This record gives sequence, structure tokens and C-alpha cells, in this order.
Amino acid sequence: MKILVISDIHANITALEAVLNAAGENDAVWCLGDIVGYGADLNECVERVQSLPNLLCVKGNHDHAISNIESLVEFNITASEAIMLSRKLISDRSIAFLQALPELVTTDLVTLAHGSPRNPIWEYILDNHVAVENLTNFSTQLAFVGHSHLPLMFTNVDGGKHMSRQYPVPGETMRITGRTILNPGSVGQPRDNDSRSSFGIFDPDAMTWQIQRVKYDISAVQARIRGAGLPEKNARRLREGW
Ligand code: ZN
Repeated sequence: MKILVISDIHANITALEAVLNAAGENDAVWCLGDIVGYGADLNECVERVQSLPNLLCVKGNHDHAISNIESLVEFNITASEAIMLSRKLISDRSIAFLQALPELVTTDLVTLAHGSPRNPIWEYILDNHVAVENLTNFSTQLAFVGHSHLPLMFTNVDGGKHMSRQYPVPGETMRITGRTILNPGSVGQPRDNDSRSSFGIFDPDAMTWQIQRVKYDISAVQARIRGAGLPEKNARRLREGW
């Protein structure tokens, strides 16, 4: 069983296609939110995600902001302007899909959330302390989250009293034992100073996890961001990965 786990596509269809190519055939795809925001390819990304096999998908803060007219107060001025522009670029069909996304998805084995199980849309799990606090907010063995745009893995130690943070090495297969919180990194806007798209492959039978990275045509994506009149920063950051 092979499950592709993706997050934070951020309207970057070139990166998404590169990831799907690199990942090959999958039994299922889990998408951890922020399909849109920052980038110019909103409808392309929403439609491509909808086409993926056995899809489970949760709502991210940008999906929420762009599909809900009253949500601008939660963002700063620059972000608000970009969201207003994104709303001009997105179709009613894409908005309907984003609005209908759940904030949390739970199966027998896993909980999926964009930010965290405790605060699904907004909270970042960046350190061991927040990871431990979140253990009481989900009952499954595993939780998959996005939002930070960083490929991180928090592993349970001392019977749940502590979590240990690791940065998985791309291409290295990791065994999952005990309760674990996993982040696949970002498809469309990596922030760990590595511009390559990040994604994860989860095998629930073998209980393994592997982060993979893949290059994509950044210049083409930057040209579309500039062409759409989105903030220059949204284009520039892709080259360095921040
Ligand atoms: Zn994001």
C-alpha cells in the first residue's frame, strides 16, 4: 500500500505535476490543505487535486481565506491584497470545492489536519512542546499535518510525555513506531532553503515514511505569478525556498 501525502501546493501547478510524476502510481492521496494562495494556478490545482485517486483532503488557512469573504481580518494587509486578487482568479466551482473541505479527517489509523489536531486551520506544530500538547487532541496513532512548509517528524518518547523532532533526510525510509506526527513539507512553496518540492510516501502496512524532493521549472511559475499581478515576494521566494 502506497499513499502519497502532499500539502501546501499554493496554486503552483508546475510543482504539483512534478510531484505526481516523481511519486508514480499511488493507492491513495492525502492532501493536507492550502491548495491555493500565493500562486497563480488556483483552478488548475483544485481540479488536479480533485482528480487524484482515493483522495482525502482537509482545508488550509488559505483555502479558508479565499473561499470565505469574511475571513480577511485574520491576515495582514499584503496578504489580504493577495487574497482579494486570488478571489478574482478563482472559479465558483473551485470555491465550492474549497468551502466544502473538512477541517479534520480521521480514519482508523490517522488524523489529517492542515495546522494541528487541536487547531486544525491555524496552529503550527514546530516544536516538541506543541507536539506533546497536541497528543491529547487526537486518538489515532498518527497525525499528518502541513502549514509550516517544513518536512518534520515528531516521534513519541517516554510513553507520550515527550516528543522528539526530526528532519527526515530525503530518500531515507523511516520506520514509524508509537504515536507520531508527520509533516510532508510543501509542494508549491518549500521554506527550508531547499527550493525543490517536498512530499511524503506513507506505507501503512510496513509503517514506513519517506520524504522525497523533486525539482520543477521555477521560472515558469514565477512568470505566471508576475503576470497575474500577485506580489513580487511570492515569486522571489520560490527560488531560494523560504
Ligand atoms: Zn501554507
